[in-house]
Amino acid sequence: AAKAAGRNTFRFYDEAMNRRARLRLSFEADLRRAAARGQLELFYQPQLRGDDGALVGAEALLRWRHPERGLVSPLEFIPVAEEAGIIAELGEWALREAARQIADWRRRGVAVPRVAVNLSARQFHAPDLVERVTRILAEAEVPSAWIELEITESTAMQDPAGAVRMLQRLREHGLEVAMDDFGTGHSSLGMLRTLPIDVLKLDRSFVQHLPASGTDAAVATAVVTLARQLGLAVVAEGVETPAQRAFLADLGCDRLQGFLFARPLPAAEVEAWLLRHRGDAGSGSRAGRAPIL
Ligand code: C2E
Ligand code: MG
Ligand code: MG
Ligand code: MG
Repeated sequence: AAKAAGRNTFRFYDEAMNRRARLRLSFEADLRRAAARGQLELFYQPQLRGDDGALVGAEALLRWRHPERGLVSPLEFIPVAEEAGIIAELGEWALREAARQIADWRRRGVAVPRVAVNLSARQFHAPDLVERVTRILAEAEVPSAWIELEITESTAMQDPAGAVRMLQRLREHGLEVAMDDFGTGHSSLGMLRTLPIDVLKLDRSFVQHLPASGTDAAVATAVVTLARQLGLAVVAEGVETPAQRAFLADLGCDRLQGFLFARPLPAAEVEAWLLRHRGDAGSGSRAGRAPIL
């Protein structure tokens, strides 16, 4: 009986694994066709200036509207796209779409100063990245100052010397780069000195327990201080409470991003949000100054 049970267990795992592998394959095949079928979408999450709450930009975040699964999170499909070797195409689509969107906004007088676009490691390390990006921006008639690129610490650390060269070339074309999820990777503080980046994004995990956590308060303070000394702008991600906002604004955090202000929104909803935001950007501790929109 034990032997039979063992065999059944084995068969069970076998089938479960097969099922998972098949699901994964169909997921991958779906993903390959998603862009062509118009199922990919960019959502935009506003970034506010720390001191007066004015809109300073928005981060573009990929969404997949799957016909059966609904809205699929990038945390689920970006790793699949990476494994399937189609992340570069997805990323390129995202950049083209973000450029098209900001051009459209600006043409219609919707005051979004800048859009940040996430780059995968593979995209960033592609030798022709600069050509690809500048071509996309030229086609959309978007000046480089309207686009900020985000790379993660681990992307840079895959090849630090190559990253320095790539960042220099991007900078020559007026493209600013933000270091995303700062503090979660393995870069040394010394690397920050040599990497020609413009913006540091303090990871959500350091924001989450502010201001109550003394350790996190110390880390946030140190990062903001260091960034200022190095001449980098700081963006805090994952700001969810007024107390976090007040703490980070008092620290001198240049930009704030988080559910407190807005979740990532479809482009049309960003416009509606902006109209509402116009009314209350100046409220809070630093009321009185006119929001620049
Ligand atoms: P990320 O670049 O660090 O983006 C910030 C993530 O934090 C977003 O998740 C956003 O929805 C979430 N977030 C923002 N504010 C808050 C908050 O107050 N509380 C909480 N709990 N979460 C907040 P999302 O949209 O699910 O994206 C996840 C990750 O997927 C991104 O992290 C980025 O690494 C990746 N991703 C998204 N779009 C792209 C893309 O176009 N290309 C590449 N390569 N990666 C992308
Ligand atoms: Mg990002
Ligand atoms: Mg981030
Ligand atoms: Mg993050």
